[in-house]
Amino acid sequence: MANLGEFEFIAQLLQGPAAQGQPFYRHPLALGIGDDAALIPPLGPQEQLAVASDMLIEGRHYFADCDPRSLGHKVLAVNLSDLAAMGARPLAFTLSAGLREIRRPWIESFLDGMLSLARESQCPLIGGDTTAVGEQAPEVFSVTALGVVQAGTALRRDGLRPGDDLWVSGHLGDAAFALAQKINDPKLNCPQPRLALGLGLVGLASAAIDISDGLQSELMHLLNGAQNRAAQPQRLQANLNWQKLPLGPLVKQAIQAGRLMPPQAAGIAITGGDEYELLFGASPRERIHLQALGEQLSLALTRIGSVDSSDRPVVCWRDASGQPPPEILQDMIARGGFRHF
Ligand code: ADP
Ligand code: MG
Repeated sequence: MANLGEFEFIAQLLQGPAAQGQPFYRHPLALGIGDDAALIPPLGPQEQLAVASDMLIEGRHYFADCDPRSLGHKVLAVNLSDLAAMGARPLAFTLSAGLREIRRPWIESFLDGMLSLARESQCPLIGGDTTAVGEQAPEVFSVTALGVVQAGTALRRDGLRPGDDLWVSGHLGDAAFALAQKINDPKLNCPQPRLALGLGLVGLASAAIDISDGLQSELMHLLNGAQNRAAQPQRLQANLNWQKLPLGPLVKQAIQAGRLMPPQAAGIAITGGDEYELLFGASPRERIHLQALGEQLSLALTRIGSVDSSDRPVVCWRDASGQPPPEILQDMIARGGFRHF
């Protein structure tokens, strides 16, 4: 099977996304792939544009021999997850690719994975760039996703208040466990951005973030956000029970089979990355509404702790009886989640 040239590739893109019949393309002032720039129709007077960019590099964020369909899905999913964490509705996205060569079956599977998710999420591909990298260079994919949010209602990282509950969607640990064990798992290969949840949380949550680098590190981002915000900055302490974390089926199975001890499993859930679940804060007044939202979306929403005023931003893990975690878990937390540098 022959490689594609750049223009053949773009011609192929034109057929795919333009044929999606998205509302975007029906707007008289919208223009997608094919011109020097895409045109985005005007937003409503009370709307803000949310912009998220994320890049995946071969050998660093994915293996060269990975399934191209999953990779295409994932590079869009991680960006949509950022929009979800802002409470934004997807509008459109661009794809920039640095490729050694445009191998036909590979790139078709990649696009198939990416554009299936795009269709499901009503988020059309409207442009991008395609460039050759050196023969020895890693390939790279960069997506910029655009979303819309009602002005002033976005779920920011800096909104936590003392007394807020802390919640997490779905279950944790399976993506990191699958990666470490080299197991194929849907959480790792095919993360589902929590877009409907993000939209549902607008007006309910005080702050939100998606879990890409690990729960512990995202908790710190929320605490630092509250400490650094312009209006009424607050030092907060997060108090959480490690035994209450919602663990994924893969991790639970490993506990049952005696391959993981519960504190180790919690350690994976606390430090493991690639979850793409939402971590959010909300006033205890919203508990009933959040429970109803979870039921409506058929998505587990688990209250994992709360935040209180403190003299410094710190994450404090305990068990049900108020005891600090066993040493093995403390060590895992101290070693921390994924660091990019
Ligand atoms: P220019 O030379 O003006 O940058 P290009 O030849 O790079 O134009 O791109 C032509 C059209 O194809 C543009 O509309 C661009 O947005 C689109 N395009 C190029 N590469 C991609 C890609 N990887 N994904 C989506 N659209 C792309
Ligand atoms: Mg270009």
